[in-house]
Amino acid sequence: MSGAADREGYRRRREVLHTPLTAVRGVGTKVAERLARKGLRTLDDALAFLPLRYEDRTRPRPLSALAAGETATFRGRIRSIGVQAYRRRRVLEAVLDDGTGRATLKWFRGNFAWLQKSLPAGAEVVGSGPVRVFQGRCEVHHPELEVLGDGGQAEGFDRVVPIYSEVEGVHPRALRRILAAALDRALPAVADLVPADLPGRPDLPAMADAYREVHFPSRGGPGLDARVAAARRALVLEEFYFLQLGLLLKKEGVALRDGIALRPDFRLVRALLDGLPFSLTGAQRRVLREIRRDMEQPRPMHRLLQGDVGSGKTLVALVAALMAVESGYQAALMAPTEILAEQHGWTLSALCRDLPVDVAVLTSGTPRPDRERILEGLASGAVHLAVGTHALIQEGVSFARLGLVIVDEQHRFGVLQRAGLVEKGARPDVLVMTATPIPRSLSMTVYGDLDLSVIDELPPGRTPVATRVVREKDLGRVYAFVRDQVALGRQAYLVYPLVDDSEALEDLRAATTMADRFRDEVFPGLEVGLLHGRMRAADKEAVMAASAAGRLQVLVCTTVIEVGIDVPNATVMVVEHAERFGLAQLHQLRGRVGRGGHRSYCVLVAGSRVGRDGWERLRVLARTGDGFRIAEEDLRIRGPGDLLGTRQSGLPDFRIGNILRDGPVLQQARDLARETLARDPGLATGRYPALRDALRDRWQGRLQLARVG
Ligand code: ADP
Ligand code: MG
Repeated sequence: MSGAADREGYRRRREVLHTPLTAVRGVGTKVAERLARKGLRTLDDALAFLPLRYEDRTRPRPLSALAAGETATFRGRIRSIGVQAYRRRRVLEAVLDDGTGRATLKWFRGNFAWLQKSLPAGAEVVGSGPVRVFQGRCEVHHPELEVLGDGGQAEGFDRVVPIYSEVEGVHPRALRRILAAALDRALPAVADLVPADLPGRPDLPAMADAYREVHFPSRGGPGLDARVAAARRALVLEEFYFLQLGLLLKKEGVALRDGIALRPDFRLVRALLDGLPFSLTGAQRRVLREIRRDMEQPRPMHRLLQGDVGSGKTLVALVAALMAVESGYQAALMAPTEILAEQHGWTLSALCRDLPVDVAVLTSGTPRPDRERILEGLASGAVHLAVGTHALIQEGVSFARLGLVIVDEQHRFGVLQRAGLVEKGARPDVLVMTATPIPRSLSMTVYGDLDLSVIDELPPGRTPVATRVVREKDLGRVYAFVRDQVALGRQAYLVYPLVDDSEALEDLRAATTMADRFRDEVFPGLEVGLLHGRMRAADKEAVMAASAAGRLQVLVCTTVIEVGIDVPNATVMVVEHAERFGLAQLHQLRGRVGRGGHRSYCVLVAGSRVGRDGWERLRVLARTGDGFRIAEEDLRIRGPGDLLGTRQSGLPDFRIGNILRDGPVLQQARDLARETLARDPGLATGRYPALRDALRDRWQGRLQLARVG
């Protein structure tokens, strides 16, 4: 087929898939509204609305073998049926017998008279429903039933029935009929877009067959699970394929553009390292070699630096910045919050104190005269290293010779913001730092467009932070412990949750009131500070400075301190309402202590309503200090959206795939995408014409992939 016809065909099929569900028999405006509330608007939505599970009605189970908790299909004769009057309610009960045993069918509501008439004693029925055991007898409440005709056949009971997530106001049977009709219309328009000629393409069902099999399995019996799994895998593979294709294309696009080949002479780097009281760890050296190799290339670096809390990323960032500076360029470090920008500003200024390097910090809180002076310095090239929030690189700030941008992202910038960055005219090298070790499956999605460097080693001499999970009733003892540590000359953080903006005021008040309480009642005589995101920049800065200088013994705060704060003298981290935080986030918070030579402690205070599960979840932190394990656990418990904040991540939501369960498929998809681009670089040769259109649809312009085509 010619490329144009191919694309035209793709467009026509896409139109069919975008047909509203109202075009399907049985879907009026009312039902359409109910479906829409569940995200079901078009034929395409119906395709992606997969069953939660299946009932294999081709294999009725002997009543004697039914077990509580399962949903079973059974077959038997009605022995008796009648309404029983209990103290409060009337219940319709029928006794079913299949020769192996008996079960009681029960209805607590419904048209009893009609049911009794349609299920006379002696009638043979097939049915299914959730099995319970009550006083040693099997029961099925509100079963789905059909009476067998003379031929012993019942429509709907010789097949596998998909069980979908409930749509309010639409009966499950009606929903199944709607989805079946939608599928009939949609499937002819479903194409196989993953090129068939790619080597290593697994042998999976065609897309239309896969959708059909996943929704309405062709056969029941022992092969059912495997067949449905293979069909689902085909769908997931396709979905992941387009994700990976997009990410790789983006990566390729970056690599293809001209960049700056830096020529560091290590004059500044050596001066810095010689002045440090310690030497770089092996891991820091290794990632610096990787970074240097990229920076010396004449194409833009686009690299992710991943390292656990306290692994020394800041120092790596500074060395990279100095390599840019000694090559005659400027470097910029961007942090996700103003507080973190300030913190980085101090750290870097201090480290550069004896070097001929001009460091400037620019945030929205920078006073106007300073601001103007700094902007001038950036434009003239007098400022070598600029530290700030991402506003630094936006809004008309101009650099004389920007060679390196470092994004300390710690999960807070999304792929989208990052995309904006690379579009900056100068095509600087870009280094993204992230603290939480990201499970491999996730990094391939969120950071699939970046090369990866990992610091997998902590500086020597770190003792693990002793971590305990306690109940609120133990707070008295926790505060006493804080007092003891302060008496030893140490400092403590007490953190309160700030969940999201709508709750911000309430939570800020909590932190604020707690700070007052601590000052007046709990820690009289101690210096108690307060820090939260709503404070004026100058006030925040003053508190941070006081804390860094050791003048504040207790710092009450929100998660603003989650990342980057570096006060080596702090040894106690108390997190109240710890259950409201993600594990990875708690791990970050914990990383704020144990940064000096002193033994350090983290106390996670679980709210009074935390159940067993919540408690166990927090215990993960007490058991391990390995950020990677914690991140995996967090991902398993909370799901990827929570871990990354889907809203920010700029990732398309997965329709079908689950990056946790489908990790191996993700890898396959990546290999196939890579192979595709090897055969059709940039998707520009016309070899796979429909892919460009499909890709653009899937991403809908996100990630500025729209460059394609
Ligand atoms: P990260 O940003 O990765 O969480 P930091 O860069 O803040 O970690 O480093 C944590 C602490 O470890 C800092 O106080 C830093 O000075 C120190 N540090 C960094 N590298 C080394 C090293 N090679 N040896 C000893 N201490 C180090
Ligand atoms: Mg850091």
